[in-house]
Amino acid sequence: METVTSTAQIDRCVVSSKRLLTWSEIWARAFELPDHVYYGIPRGGAIVAGLMETHGYRTTDRPECAEAFVDDIIDSGATKAKWLQQFPRAKFFALYERGDSWLVFPWEQSYEADAHDVVRRTLQLIGEDAAREGLRETPARVVRSWKELFSGYGQSPANVLKADFEADGYDELIVCRDVQFYSTCEHHMQPFFGRAHIGYIPEKRVVGLSKLARLVEVFARRLQIQERLTEEIASALDQYLKPKGAAVVLEAQHFCMVCRGVQKQTSSMVTSSLKGCFRTSPDPRSEFFNLVNRRV
Ligand code: ZN
Repeated sequence: METVTSTAQIDRCVVSSKRLLTWSEIWARAFELPDHVYYGIPRGGAIVAGLMETHGYRTTDRPECAEAFVDDIIDSGATKAKWLQQFPRAKFFALYERGDSWLVFPWEQSYEADAHDVVRRTLQLIGEDAAREGLRETPARVVRSWKELFSGYGQSPANVLKADFEADGYDELIVCRDVQFYSTCEHHMQPFFGRAHIGYIPEKRVVGLSKLARLVEVFARRLQIQERLTEEIASALDQYLKPKGAAVVLEAQHFCMVCRGVQKQTSSMVTSSLKGCFRTSPDPRSEFFNLVNRRV
């Protein structure tokens, strides 16, 4: 099973097939679970625990009093790991494991309508009449745009970088400069965008330039801060391509800075992350920065 770095729910947006689960499927699985005092992991697990309680199971809303945890689905395993780390003696059950199809639980099936309501409510909060002609289709448009802006949650770096090939003895620096990217800052949910420069020195494997651009997309199309985005791109290269070293520089302008608050219209932020030989030896490092800074 492939690991996806984020456990967010939007993970499941992009998975090819979608399967709507029925309440009776949920009951059938929930009522097979052994007898314990259960705590339901928010949010889906809490709904399952609520169902189980109506069926005579013992439940608690205090995790420290639970003998077992129940969740609706194990996605990446991160949630399970987190809870078991805190409560190592508890058992952990989930109705489903993440599979090939995107499972939509009965309580999630109004997702689209709920999302539209959130946008409509936001329009009202900023002082708009959400019903006026020009705004009538806005909620649907905004929610559609989220699917693209946040499509990174459904993609994994392993998948993008698996199409690598033999370096054939080439062991010099490879630099891909000026990869445009567009991301959303997690503090203000405002865009930040700019260019990424990526370099690596292959050990055995190299990867096509378009894959580097797609790697940037995997992490940029999420809620981000620029520092983490830089680090995640470099770490993914390091982890999956196993080069002698990897280096990433990002230059970006942040809407939250240029159009509000301090209003520094032209300022941009530069971040970098260095791995392997770029960290330990000055030669590849200065070669990389020379190439990145050279303007033709
Ligand atoms: Zn911001």
